[in-house]
Amino acid sequence: MNNPSVVIIGGGVIGMASAYYASQAGFQVTVIDRDAQSTESSCASGSAGMVVPSHFVPLAAPGMIGTAMRMMFNPRSPFYMKPKWDLEMFRWGLAFAKASTRNHVNASAPLIRDLNLASRKLFVELANQSGNPFGFVQKGLLMLCHTQQGFEHEKQTAHHAAQLGLEARIADAKTISSIEPALSMDIAGGVYFPQDCHLNPSEFLKKLKMQAQSRGMKMLEWNPADSIGFMRSKGTIDAIRLGDRVIEADQFVLAAGAWSSSEAQKLGIRLPMQPGKGYSLTLNHPRELPEICAILTEARVAITPMNGSLRFAGTMEFDGFNATIQPRRLEGMIQSSLKYLPAFKAKDFESVQPWSGFRPCSPDGLPYLGRSQTIGNLIIATGHAMMGLSLAPVTGKLVTDLLLNHPWEMDASLLNPERFNAPNNP
Ligand SMILES: Cc1cc2nc3c(=O)[nH]c(=O)nc-3n(C[C@H](O)[C@H](O)[C@H](O)COP(=O)(O)OP(=O)(O)OC[C@H]3O[C@@H](n4cnc5c(N)ncnc54)[C@H](O)[C@@H]3O)c2cc1C
Repeated sequence: MNNPSVVIIGGGVIGMASAYYASQAGFQVTVIDRDAQSTESSCASGSAGMVVPSHFVPLAAPGMIGTAMRMMFNPRSPFYMKPKWDLEMFRWGLAFAKASTRNHVNASAPLIRDLNLASRKLFVELANQSGNPFGFVQKGLLMLCHTQQGFEHEKQTAHHAAQLGLEARIADAKTISSIEPALSMDIAGGVYFPQDCHLNPSEFLKKLKMQAQSRGMKMLEWNPADSIGFMRSKGTIDAIRLGDRVIEADQFVLAAGAWSSSEAQKLGIRLPMQPGKGYSLTLNHPRELPEICAILTEARVAITPMNGSLRFAGTMEFDGFNATIQPRRLEGMIQSSLKYLPAFKAKDFESVQPWSGFRPCSPDGLPYLGRSQTIGNLIIATGHAMMGLSLAPVTGKLVTDLLLNHPWEMDASLLNPERFNAPNNP
């Protein structure tokens, strides 16, 4: 008898982690992506590479709307939403506003914490088993605050983290310097989260792919000019049509990142999602090389050491799939970073090739993860926004539990992928 088969739509970090664990569980896995050769089309490839138990607050949180409105008209700010007549974006915005409440944060934070901690454990396991070719570093994360006001705000988050049982150490500038002596910093203080980690995301993706391929995973390239077709009968998918190819399977996983909504729509599932564009700039020979990754909080820039280089990542632009690099926003990212890092100069970034990627953002800041109620043999795993790399291993594991019909140990009903199908949702 043949092993049960699964087709995963999307070979980004979520698709690859799902392929890794599903192939380990004995499934015959086929992954479909527009790029079957590399893993560079994943938004995770140029990401900051952070594994973040410290990030337990969903994107939709009190104060976010006000912050976004203040930043929107500044072309150098880290946030932008292009005003346009787009019904989907309008509905997404309404749902985001509706979800940005204290109750939502309180309900979501323990689940996000548990997912991140479970994922962190899996990263440790993956690094130990593979000889750590993806540079996994367990040295924590620093939230650096340039202003006293920013520091006071971060202290509140640290208290909330402590209530959730996470380690968070509030530290003045001198103490932060003793934790990270390699970096000169102009800061009022910060918070040290020792449980956070960082890694090289491209190498991590390559490793997942190689391991899954060694267990028989097949990659199929798809030409975006050919729309993916679903062949269905009575509440299930029988096969996927790619041009003139037909790929049958027992089960299907939709993990196409920011592009997942249009595929879901073909199946009659509403999966509200906006691509949140972010940039990164990697200095190959940085003037100073920290050992610990950090977030420059007011600037909303992440800095991560990676194999001797230093990556700066940030910005959140909502303008559909517009891949144009906005020079003024990059300039804003650089200038705001320099305020924290006096040893660095704007000219350090002059010849650096900017990278951009689209984060898959759901309106309530929570992933879509679970079995579809509309299509019985479909699992949806997407919408991880700023945490897709961090949550990839646990997502892959949970997807595999679903494929095996194993019950989850945690209550993740908040992640129900069809939660926006209800008629009372915007
Ligand atoms: C600047 C920046 C920094 C970030 N830093 C971090 C970080 O430090 N830590 C963290 O946890 N997260 C971070 N993220 C977020 C993280 O990268 C994403 O959450 C994550 O990549 C989402 O994974 P995914 O697999 O859902 O989507 P992706 O990684 O984008 O993968 C989607 C894949 O689907 C493919 N695809 C698209 N359409 C189709 C289709 N129709 N059919 C089949 N395949 C399709 C694409 O080619 C792509 O390979 C960052 C993001 C950005 C932009």
